[in-house]
Amino acid sequence: MFDIHNLIRPHLRDLGPSATIQETFRGHATILLYAAENSFGSPVTGVSEKGMNRYPDPLQWKLKEKISRIKGVPPMNMFIGNGSDEVIDLLVRACCTPGTDHVLVMPPTYGTFERAAAVNGVDVRKVPSLPDFQPDMDAVAEAIDEHTKIIFICSPNNPTGNTIDAEVVESILVNFNGLVVLDEAFINYSRQKTAIGLLRDFPNLVVLQTLSKAWGMAGLRVGMAFASEDIINVLNKIKQPYNVSETTQELALQALEQVEQINGWIKQTVAERENLAQNLAALPFVEKVFPSEANFVLVRFADATAVYKFLLGKGIVVSDRTATPGCEGCLRITVGTPEENKIVLQTLSKFGA
Ligand SMILES: *Cc1c(COP(=O)(O)O)cnc(C)c1O
Repeated sequence: MFDIHNLIRPHLRDLGPSATIQETFRGHATILLYAAENSFGSPVTGVSEKGMNRYPDPLQWKLKEKISRIKGVPPMNMFIGNGSDEVIDLLVRACCTPGTDHVLVMPPTYGTFERAAAVNGVDVRKVPSLPDFQPDMDAVAEAIDEHTKIIFICSPNNPTGNTIDAEVVESILVNFNGLVVLDEAFINYSRQKTAIGLLRDFPNLVVLQTLSKAWGMAGLRVGMAFASEDIINVLNKIKQPYNVSETTQELALQALEQVEQINGWIKQTVAERENLAQNLAALPFVEKVFPSEANFVLVRFADATAVYKFLLGKGIVVSDRTATPGCEGCLRITVGTPEENKIVLQTLSKFGA
């Protein structure tokens, strides 16, 4: 049976919660003299209902309740981070003892998985994906041992844009007794269903989502993890007590009111992605446009570096992936507004002319 307490690092097992007021007192205080805040107020007014002189809710309950109504996940099964990048770092730190344990990634994939491990002095086992960017299951089975603590999967995957087959994800969940972290940063642009529904059956699953992509709030830094209560409790225990600021919590609540606008943008982005992909594929110097379920397309060019420099000269910056193993000769182009995409296509039509 999977038990997160067997997976986390030994020194964390007996660590108690941090001493925020929410741990010691619940209810309404008329005089609040607990946290050594400035009782007079804050020089910045009008940005926060609560007053910026006060510490924010360390567990962000209001925000979690709002997200709960949208995602159908109970607040107790939710963790909010300073971006999902914070959650990735916390998961590595919770589970992996440097020098002993390792994580497994399947490149080409999101670089932060590997980076979070490297920053923590934790080894990374890389099992390159198959040419269709699906996991190489035989090689994964061969690479894992009792020190493999986390397998990171990204679906839709960055930078390739494909989704990972649901049966493959389930097979990893069934056969691997460590944590399976499924990063769904781009799920809103995909036809694939979220794996949130699998949480009931798989206590070793962590699903990551973010407000940075479809929700248009990358500048705010809000990432979400959905997982068992046991896993969420571990993350809560080791995070910085006030990891999500008051402003962030309030603005995230505002953003989450705008579901209609977000759904409109998602539809437009998907339509623009398909149009961009089709037009790119028709260019003579394009070798391949990889099918995408995200808000970008990965494109292989006959001479990607020349195209990259050409675009740069016209003030258009895309992501150069020529040095990414598995993405040789490729650029990753984010879907822009209809006007931006038109300019990109018009500009590219003049390449080599
Ligand atoms: C953009 C992105 C994220 C988002 O990270 P935040 O820290 O929430 O901004 C997470 N995972 C992947 C694969 C991404 O591309």
